Amino acid sequence: MTLRPVGQIVRAEATSDGAGVRLLRTLGSRQLDHLDPFLLLDEFKSDRPDDYIAGFPDHPHRGFETVTYMLAGTMRHADHRGNTGKLVAGSVQWMTAGRGIVHSEMPEQEDGLMWGFQLWVNLPARDKLCEPRYQEFPPSAVPEVRREDGTRIRVVAGETDGTRGAVTGIATEPLYLDVALPVRARLAHPVRAGHNTCAYVFEGEGHFGETERGPRRAVGPGHLVVFGPGDGVAVWTEASPVRFLLLAARPIGEPVVRYGPFVMNRREEILQAIQDYQAGAFAR
Ligand code: MN
Repeated sequence: MTLRPVGQIVRAEATSDGAGVRLLRTLGSRQLDHLDPFLLLDEFKSDRPDDYIAGFPDHPHRGFETVTYMLAGTMRHADHRGNTGKLVAGSVQWMTAGRGIVHSEMPEQEDGLMWGFQLWVNLPARDKLCEPRYQEFPPSAVPEVRREDGTRIRVVAGETDGTRGAVTGIATEPLYLDVALPVRARLAHPVRAGHNTCAYVFEGEGHFGETERGPRRAVGPGHLVVFGPGDGVAVWTEASPVRFLLLAARPIGEPVVRYGPFVMNRREEILQAIQDYQAGAFAR
């Protein structure tokens, strides 16, 4: 395995979106516009209802996929075609918006901790106007691999130790893992060469780099590690455990023109998306 060096480390920016939900944003920020095919990564975590209760009322998407992964709390999803779903702690929804979805994502709780992530994954030009598709899994349907050293890996998409993830058939062949390392542990995980790769730390502290003796970076919550070329990543812990998302996918290599919830290849396609949305074409 050729371990990937650490390239950039992006510290999350505090922002808000929807009707006033407080977020930590790394991908899709001023520091890192995107990491092909990843367009945005938000972490929402608060036990103050004011930070999340307004939720994300009706809004459209076209041309990409949104991935919601919950750690705590309950979120209710409903779209204009009559699809509904409830996301609870440990569940995942991979929504391929394709040619258009109008939906709401609202907290289904009045207090308590709300914690999770939303990742936006781009679609290649040939799939941007595909039929919308949902892959939604309860916690029990997301496989968890336990290693002898106490490491636990929940496999949302891709593969780890021969265990396949819940989400399949995605154009960019993503790897989406929720990795928890105990203290004084090490993980070297294969990642396909050529796939853009990053790790988002959300608990504890991990050391990322090629070897324990070489250049290394200690990284804590709210930071995104972007890796350089190679076919594997290494992380290890000292006195603190660490938990992070490991994300990788095949870059698309096409022009990206984004305007809020629409992500297309050309400006004219954005204008078309706005026109279609205003004409109510997304809901049909
Ligand atoms: Mn949405």
